[in-house]
Amino acid sequence: MPKDNNSEKLNMTITIRKDPTFTNLLQNNLKSRYEKRRRNVEDNVHVSDILPSTCIRKQYFGRKNPELDEISNESVQHFIRGESSEAAITSLADMGVSQMDLEMDGLIAHPDIMNQDQIVELKDTLSNKRLGIYDHQFKSYVRQLLYYLVITGIERGIISIRYNNRELKWIKTDSDGNDYFIRPKNSRAPEIESWSVFLPKDDIARELLKNEMIRRKTLFQKSLRESNVSILPRLKENIRSSKCPWCKFYDICMSKENDETQEAKEMVNEIDLLDINGFIDFKPSL
Ligand code: SF4
Repeated sequence: MPKDNNSEKLNMTITIRKDPTFTNLLQNNLKSRYEKRRRNVEDNVHVSDILPSTCIRKQYFGRKNPELDEISNESVQHFIRGESSEAAITSLADMGVSQMDLEMDGLIAHPDIMNQDQIVELKDTLSNKRLGIYDHQFKSYVRQLLYYLVITGIERGIISIRYNNRELKWIKTDSDGNDYFIRPKNSRAPEIESWSVFLPKDDIARELLKNEMIRRKTLFQKSLRESNVSILPRLKENIRSSKCPWCKFYDICMSKENDETQEAKEMVNEIDLLDINGFIDFKPSL
């Protein structure tokens, strides 16, 4: 019997369609995971809540106005990148306990890897350039590790930064907001760069960092209890333009009713401990 070419073709057709169902499932599950975590930690203050760079107000709004904290496809990407990278590196390093529960004066910390001699903080970034002490992001990594060293009394720490991108050099931003980059001939490939940090046991810096932590934790708890964000400082002026316009809480944060109190304004203008001459001795090469 002669074959019907059309029906044979039809039976053999493989169909491929763009389908957001699975991506949406990831987004929804991540959202419920965050909501569950939020409920569990309502009264707890974590180190990541009070880091100046994370934005203490953002942490406040995340708890008080969770409906505004939309989980996007990018949030899922960010979460997966961070979690999978951390799990793989922790297993490969094989040198201590991961995510140990620590607590100091009601402040909770979970260092990525910890043993009795040192703490390792793992970072994963899409940064196009390699970071150093003059970068806001790097300073934030250092501060988080220093907080952990203060909480535990340990002297040695490691910051290990995983760069996902080959280096790019920014050239300009045009009037439509498009960025232009070049990839230099000898640009560095994706890599992991690690830094050792030593904070002596008797260094006065420990006391200063501890005071900073406790002050920010107490302020954060007070704002949550009183439902008053005005006492919390916004980000520092010099980083607002690169962070705030993309913040999910921009409108509510910048509204007149949530303006900063005089104390919060003064706090944001205080000199950063890490910028004080002699506080840190940083060498960019071996
Ligand atoms: S708009 Fe800026 S200061 Fe306000 S919560 Fe967002 S990041 Fe923080």
